[in-house]
Amino acid sequence: MGGEISPWMTEELSILRDQVRRFLEREFVPCRERWEEAGVVDREAWKKAGATGLLCASIPEAYGGGGGTRAHDVVIAEETGRAGLGGGFGAGNGVHSNIVAHYILAYGTEEQKQCWLPCMASGEMIGAIAMTEPGTGSDLQSVRTTARRDGDAYVIAGQKTFITNGQNADLVLVVAKTDPAAGAKGVSIIAVETATASGFRRGRNLQKIGMHAQDTSELFFDDVRTPVGNLLGGVEGQGFKQLMVQLAWERLSCAFGAVVAMERAVELTADYVKERKAFGQSILDFQNTQFKLAEAKTHAVIARTFVDQLMVRLLAGTLDPTTAAMAKWWTTDMQCKVIDECLQFFGGYGYMTEYPIARMYADARVQKIYAGTNEVMKLLIARTL
Ligand SMILES: Cc1cc2nc3c(=O)[nH]c(=O)nc-3n(C[C@H](O)[C@H](O)[C@H](O)COP(=O)(O)OP(=O)(O)OC[C@H]3O[C@@H](n4cnc5c(N)ncnc54)[C@H](O)[C@@H]3O)c2cc1C
Repeated sequence: MGGEISPWMTEELSILRDQVRRFLEREFVPCRERWEEAGVVDREAWKKAGATGLLCASIPEAYGGGGGTRAHDVVIAEETGRAGLGGGFGAGNGVHSNIVAHYILAYGTEEQKQCWLPCMASGEMIGAIAMTEPGTGSDLQSVRTTARRDGDAYVIAGQKTFITNGQNADLVLVVAKTDPAAGAKGVSIIAVETATASGFRRGRNLQKIGMHAQDTSELFFDDVRTPVGNLLGGVEGQGFKQLMVQLAWERLSCAFGAVVAMERAVELTADYVKERKAFGQSILDFQNTQFKLAEAKTHAVIARTFVDQLMVRLLAGTLDPTTAAMAKWWTTDMQCKVIDECLQFFGGYGYMTEYPIARMYADARVQKIYAGTNEVMKLLIARTL
């Protein structure tokens, strides 16, 4: 938007970007309304995404992935957002490819990687991560779900909520206490294969104010027996540490989503205000419109410059969680502000869901809540003062 090409972009990534854009326009954009009505992206689409290379792009080829880097994931996520699919397939794939697959790659035993990653890359298995519970979200150490060792199995008991991909998920990484007395050191991550897990139940597909094509659910674990081999990494008590290490990337992913949304909002609004007339002139001719859109574009460019710089650091392995937390809270706050101001220029049409800006407004709000609330981001930053 500022006319600059992101410093982490390469020719290969530009080709990928074109391919992804064409695929989404042809295959997914026509399905968007149907998915929004159903509250879920259908499984066939996940398989198509897998066959096209949209899933697990940065997982090594040896495990069925695309063999790319995090930059490949970002390009796919950016195009998904630009196509208006961020609040459905985009969010689901973010959890599936960028989070769940990478937990397995980073911490899984060789057997776990061989078993789950190829199925995730093809879209046969859809991944979810279940941390949040009805009684605790931000304070992860206080999760009450337990995983008790019983012979060659863990018996998982508890309840999770707000789980992305909850209705579709075949593989759920469950955050549970293997030693309830040990605080953070008693937290482990155990994979539950939903097809064979007796005692596993999905609750409602929750009704949200936005992201209507994304299934977000309650999950129930009524003494679910899971083989001990499903403990991520094979050693108990590593869960909290595992969660913390991945955070920089998860936060940066949110920030990229925010930047793309701001850029799209400014573009859509600039187009609209050139066409729409009031008092004998276009809406863009009013100085208020010019100043507000100038501010919005400036915010989008500043945000883009910051996240691009962090992406360079992420690829070099030098991005720290605190700077990523800064990017997460600031860009998502700005996303909500910019979209709100852009929506105003659409007048009543901005309130109608058939206009993309209205859906973007509703989809944006959760960005300040999930992946660690923006208040929690500030807490983390404040600790470094
Ligand atoms: C659409 C959607 C998808 C989601 N997907 C997933 C998923 O896939 N997996 C998953 O596990 N979870 C998921 N979540 C849950 C999400 O991560 C939590 O909602 C979030 O972490 C906040 O937890 P909470 O809702 O329990 O809020 P709480 O922790 O109860 O927080 C309530 C308020 O108190 C503030 N607060 C809390 N602690 C402090 C503090 N120390 N200082 C200052 N303020 C504080 C918070 O910032 C917030 O404003 C999803 C949520 C939504 C809405």
